Amino acid sequence: MKCRYCSRKGEVFIPYARLTLCREHFIEFVQKKVLRTIKRYNLIKSRDKILIAVSGGKDSITLLQLLSEMRKIIHYDLYVLHIDLGIGEYSKSSRTLVESYTRQLGLPIIIVELKKILGYTLPEIAKKLKRPPCSVCGIIKRYLFNATAIELNATALATGHNLDDIATFILKEFFAQNLTGIWKLQPYNEPYKDIVAARIKPLYETYEEEARKYAEYMKLPYIQEKCPYYKPTTLDNVLKQKIKEIEEKFPGITIGLIRRFMKNIEKYPKPETSFSKCRICGLASNGEKCSYCKLTEKLLGEPMGHKTREYIKSLIEELG
Ligand code: SF4
Ligand code: ZN
Ligand code: ZN
Repeated sequence: MKCRYCSRKGEVFIPYARLTLCREHFIEFVQKKVLRTIKRYNLIKSRDKILIAVSGGKDSITLLQLLSEMRKIIHYDLYVLHIDLGIGEYSKSSRTLVESYTRQLGLPIIIVELKKILGYTLPEIAKKLKRPPCSVCGIIKRYLFNATAIELNATALATGHNLDDIATFILKEFFAQNLTGIWKLQPYNEPYKDIVAARIKPLYETYEEEARKYAEYMKLPYIQEKCPYYKPTTLDNVLKQKIKEIEEKFPGITIGLIRRFMKNIEKYPKPETSFSKCRICGLASNGEKCSYCKLTEKLLGEPMGHKTREYIKSLIEELG
C-alpha cells in the first residue's frame, strides 16, 4: 500500500487513524502530534527555560530530540538532566550515551551522581536500608528532579511519559480508588511557590509504539537494555501490557481514555494543593521532613536534602 500523502511505499499503518504512511511522513506525523500536544495544553511558551530528565531510554531520548528540534519553532532554552544511579554497567552506558547525544545536540547537561552526594550507589543504598531498589529509586529521583528544576529556576521539568504510561497510571489510581492522585496525571502540573517545580509531559498523546518507531526511523541512539531491577510482573507493567492488548483489539481506545479523562478532570476530587516546607532542605514535604531527608537520615544518620541542593547548585554554576 502507498503512503496517504505521497507516492512512496507505506511502511507504517496507524490503526486508530486508519493511516498508512511512509517513513518520512510518519516522522512528520509524530513531530506534528507532539507540537499539537504542547500547544493544546500550553506546555511550553517562548522564552521558557525547560529542564528535561533524560535516562537514556527510548522515550526520554525521543523527547530530547523533539524538544531540541522544536526550539526552532517556539524559542525556549533547554537543559538536560541525567541522574547517575550507579547501577553497574547499565548506568555507565546510559550516562555515556546521554552525555554524547546531548553534546551532539549542543545542549547544556547537568549530571547528578548519587555516589558523589550520598557516598553510595542505588544498589548499595537499597541493600543498606533493606528496601526494594525501585521504591528507594522513586524517592531519590523525584527529589533530584524537583531540586534541580528549582535550583535552575526552570519554568518546567519535562519527562518522557508517553500515552501508554499515563493510561496505566490512570487505571492504577482508579483500581486503588485514589481519585485525588489522578490529578497529577495531567499533561501539565502546576508549580507550588518555590518548592515544587512545574512538570510537563509532551508525549502525553504519543503511543509508546509511535515513540519507538520514531526513534528507530530517526536512528536515535538509546539504551535498549532495561534496568536490571525492572520486573515485568509489577502491577504497572502488567496493566500496561493489558492496555496494549486492548488497544490492538479496539484501536484508539487509549487516546480516547486520555481525552475523556482531561475533559472530566474537574469532576475528580481535587487534592490538597498546599505543601509544607521541609525543615531541613526547604523543599516540599507532607510533614516536618521530606521523604528524601528522612531516607538519607536513615542511611547516613544525617538528612542530606540541604547538602544535595548545595551540590546541585554548584553543578549549575559550573555551567556558567
Ligand atoms: Fe529505578 Fe531501575 Fe527501578 Fe526504574 S527499574 S525505578 S531505574 S531501580
Ligand atoms: Zn509519504
Ligand atoms: Zn528535605
